[in-house]
Amino acid sequence: MAVYNDAICKRCRALGAKLFLKGERCFTSKCAFEKRPYAPGKNKISRRKTTSYAEHLKEKQKAKTIYGVLEKQFRKYFAEASRQKGETGINLISILERRLDNVVFRAGIATSRKEARRLVSHGHIVVNGRKVNIPSYLLKKGDIISLSEKSKTKEEFKNRFEESAKRTASSWISVDTSNLSATFTDVPTKEDIQPQFNENAIVEIYSK
Ligand code: SF4
Repeated sequence: MAVYNDAICKRCRALGAKLFLKGERCFTSKCAFEKRPYAPGKNKISRRKTTSYAEHLKEKQKAKTIYGVLEKQFRKYFAEASRQKGETGINLISILERRLDNVVFRAGIATSRKEARRLVSHGHIVVNGRKVNIPSYLLKKGDIISLSEKSKTKEEFKNRFEESAKRTASSWISVDTSNLSATFTDVPTKEDIQPQFNENAIVEIYSK
């Protein structure tokens, strides 16, 4: 019962895509989007016409929802991406991917970005040996993330690294199970990430 009414899953349904917000559940048949791949409401088929602005807005909503970023911060990232050389949309993706909570998730230490944010803000993660409890902290190429000394002694966290080693790791993150650490080896490209949103639509929306 609660599965279908879950507010988090409704976001996927409203935005028309699997956004993988609930960890392992997203890969099972319990996924609400798999069961009802249409927007929450009474009718399966919507006859409402959507404008291109609405479609672009949806792409921005997807990106914000996937990375768990609010509008103010997202706008800052966009401004930073615009200042950098190269394509703004690609730069924006790179910035989002450098967030500490995202890398903790990509490394497999957490099963969702939401869980990764909790681990970071509760002080379980260190970057290059220093505790960082800011989920939006941006990593640089070569940075090493690890568990805090206290967390390393907990069985739950050791298991996380062992489990993560069994999964296909992101090619730009190297996980070292023996040291309970992961290295952000490079800023990923768009091809590496294959984003679930159209970054050009986001550029369009902020350029209006
Ligand atoms: Fe829910 Fe995950 Fe499926 Fe989205 S992908 S509907 S968050 S279970």
